[in-house]
Amino acid sequence: MVGLRNIHPSFPLFYTSVLAIFAFLMLSGGLLLVFTIFRGKDIFLSHKLRGVVAKVLFPFMILMGRLVGVSKERVQQSFIELNNHLVQSNHHRTGPNKLLILLPHCIQDFDCQVKITGNIRNCKGCGKCEIKNLIELSDQYQVKIAVATGGTLARRIIVDNRPEAIVAVACELDLTSGIQDTYPIPVIGILNERPNGPCINTKVDIQKVKQAILDFLESQAS
Ligand code: SF4
Repeated sequence: MVGLRNIHPSFPLFYTSVLAIFAFLMLSGGLLLVFTIFRGKDIFLSHKLRGVVAKVLFPFMILMGRLVGVSKERVQQSFIELNNHLVQSNHHRTGPNKLLILLPHCIQDFDCQVKITGNIRNCKGCGKCEIKNLIELSDQYQVKIAVATGGTLARRIIVDNRPEAIVAVACELDLTSGIQDTYPIPVIGILNERPNGPCINTKVDIQKVKQAILDFLESQAS
């Protein structure tokens, strides 16, 4: 304060006001976040919170996690969970033809010779990996489905399909960056399971994918 006053007499007041506004915004944002998740409903402007969480809060969470010794992976998991809660609370309405299931390539059986990245329908349905069940799920609800080998192809698929909502399966890193990149498109992120280590023969809980699809389609009916 003394230093600021030396620069200009009004600086301390200005500094205090900026700090007070910042603290007020942080507190109201935090309370809004808690109430939105707690009530499971969109509250005043809470749909904008997901953008704030993705663009502002997440880098802050990573920094805080580093300071207190929480792994980046754990922070990413929390971010994905928080994002999913907010998407579900906002009850986004989506038609089946505007809903996209986006899968990582590592879910395909490693020894499978069929090329499914350009067209997942090339799958022969042998059942050695979960691609078969996921295609059946997309047929059941008439939603689009695609496989991406990385972020660049995922972005292209999104540009080509213009979905209004996405159910994405991936690891922590890809889901986090995907949710951030595709904002404001609502994304429900589902972590893949890695019984064989990362990036090979990964799995996903089909029931979670089904529930995420219903979360978007059922809200359309409500
Ligand atoms: S289910 Fe499809 S993608 Fe999976 S191994 Fe069989 S043919 Fe390949």
